[in-house]
Formats: sequence, C-alpha cells, structure tokens
Amino acid sequence: MTLDEWEALCDGCGLCCLVKIEDEDSGEVYNTSVSCFLLETASCRCGDYNSRFSKAPMCTRLTPDNLAEMDWLPESCAYKRLKSGLTLPAWHYLLTNDRDAVHEAGISARWFALSEEFIHPDQLADFVITPDGE
Ligand code: SF4
Ligand code: SF4
Repeated sequence: MTLDEWEALCDGCGLCCLVKIEDEDSGEVYNTSVSCFLLETASCRCGDYNSRFSKAPMCTRLTPDNLAEMDWLPESCAYKRLKSGLTLPAWHYLLTNDRDAVHEAGISARWFALSEEFIHPDQLADFVITPDGE
C-alpha cells in the first residue's frame, strides 16, 4: 500500500484529534471531548496538516507499525476496523463517494468537540469520554 492509499483510508471523523489524558497510576489513556487546537471542528480537518507535527506536540503519525499501540482510536476508525478484519463502514466516503457521510452518520467529532483553545489544561479531566465519543 502506498502512503497515498494509506492516507486515503482515513474517513475524516476527527476523533483521533481529541486531546487525551493519561492516568498516571494505571497508564491508561482516555479521550476527552476537547479537540486539538488545530482541528477545524466544523469540517474535522486539520488546520495545518503539513506542519502539524511541529505545531501540535500531541499529534502522532498513524502508521501500520504503530497502529496496534493506539488502542484509544475509536472502533469506527477505518484503520482499526481493517486491522481487526472488519470491512469499511457503510458510510465511509470510499464507498459512498460523499465526504459528509461520516458527519451525517453522527460519527465525527463535529457534533461535540470543543477546541482546546477554550479549555484550561486543568479542566481536561472534566471532559473525559469513551473512545467512541460517548
Ligand atoms: S480516527 Fe481514524 S478514520 Fe478517524 S480521523 Fe482519525 S485516523 Fe482518520
Ligand atoms: S495537528 Fe492536526 S492532525 Fe494532528 S491532532 Fe491536531 S488537528 Fe489532528
């Protein structure tokens, strides 16, 4: 698979751009409903994709090699699904040819994400959610 083909699997849900916090005792990582300051919450697109790693320290490149470590990815994530032997979800744009289908299916961060620009870091624990955004 080429890099372009790998990147094309992303459905654009924006759920991996949620700020995570780690339990210092257990090491468990939790998603919050707070999104990276670079995420454009209406579109769930990165506001500076080419410079994301220098601008957003929390941003991680998802690769076939580190996918297994990212257990905080949502169950809907195309990479996680394919790795688990599942097919792409019915609303995936590669099947529907519709980039908005992920939003219309209610899957994306568009519906609840609050940019970290508006949150003090000390408040993050108040925004913990499950990996599927509940
Ligand atoms: S969670 Fe998966 S499918 Fe959704 S934006 Fe992130 S990498 Fe793409
Ligand atoms: S820098 Fe962009 S791709 Fe990385 S977490 Fe933030 S919004 Fe997502």
